[in-house]
Amino acid sequence: MSGKGENFEDQAFVTLVTNDRYAYGALVVGQSLRDVGTTRQLAILITPQVTQPMRRQLSMLYDYIQEVNPLDSQDDAHLALLTRPDLGITFTKLYSWRLTQYSKCVFLDADTLVLQNVDDLFDREELSAAPDVGWPDCFNSGVFVFKPSNETYRGLLQCAVTQGSFDGGDQGLLNTFFSDWATADINKHLPFIYNMTSAISYSYLPAFVRFGNEVRIVHFIGRTKPWMYRYNTQTGTISRPSDVDVTHDSIYVKMWWDVFMSKVKPRIEQEQGTDLAN
Ligand code: UDP
Ligand code: MN
Repeated sequence: MSGKGENFEDQAFVTLVTNDRYAYGALVVGQSLRDVGTTRQLAILITPQVTQPMRRQLSMLYDYIQEVNPLDSQDDAHLALLTRPDLGITFTKLYSWRLTQYSKCVFLDADTLVLQNVDDLFDREELSAAPDVGWPDCFNSGVFVFKPSNETYRGLLQCAVTQGSFDGGDQGLLNTFFSDWATADINKHLPFIYNMTSAISYSYLPAFVRFGNEVRIVHFIGRTKPWMYRYNTQTGTISRPSDVDVTHDSIYVKMWWDVFMSKVKPRIEQEQGTDLAN
């Protein structure tokens, strides 16, 4: 693909799932990266709860699967976690920095969807991310460029133990650790089209009308995720679950489901003896 003989084996998109529900998201975001013809590796961190049939599905899309279990590990994370049990999933996300076989990575939450090629993100340096819509002086930690390093990993653990996370999750911790993001270097501010929070058309419709067709990555933040919607196979329409907290733009939820129905579900159904196919 590169044409110039470059070797991108040491650069990867990285995501994380701790259960099969989020794994549906990882199947869709991984497929969406393949569909836009990425030249980079796909890597995923999983925890022991992810089932074997789901691991087989993930292995058809991802080049590298790393099981992580901070609770069982004998290293610093274990000790850190004992003091901060509230940060369980956050600690798992920090493992991304231990993927030192890669020189640069782009982390994508499992609730994202890639609409256009974003390989140019690898031209950016750590820590590049887009502003959070709720507090734009903080970055949103659903999409970020980083450089794996055991030293940084230890620094993040240290930060987790000593300072904690002001929102109880990875975003608070990462914003504390990379605290000069807002002011130090404008090149580390990703354009919003690289992490477009679904539902933005309700908060700033004219901007969405102007820039919406440039969106490259959609991020379905909040409790309600695309895989919780119902899809009517007869009509191809989607309906929201009853207890929604965020109303995602249905056009993007539909795009998520189109990827799922056309590419992901057929592979699940092909698998013999799996109970994932509903
Ligand atoms: N995640 C996970 N299992 C969980 C919760 C979160 O694997 O039970 C991972 C997943 O990659 C997810 C990310 O952590 O996308 C961040 O959580 P989420 O996307 O739900 O947070 P939001 O973007 O809504 O703030
Ligand atoms: Mn997310």
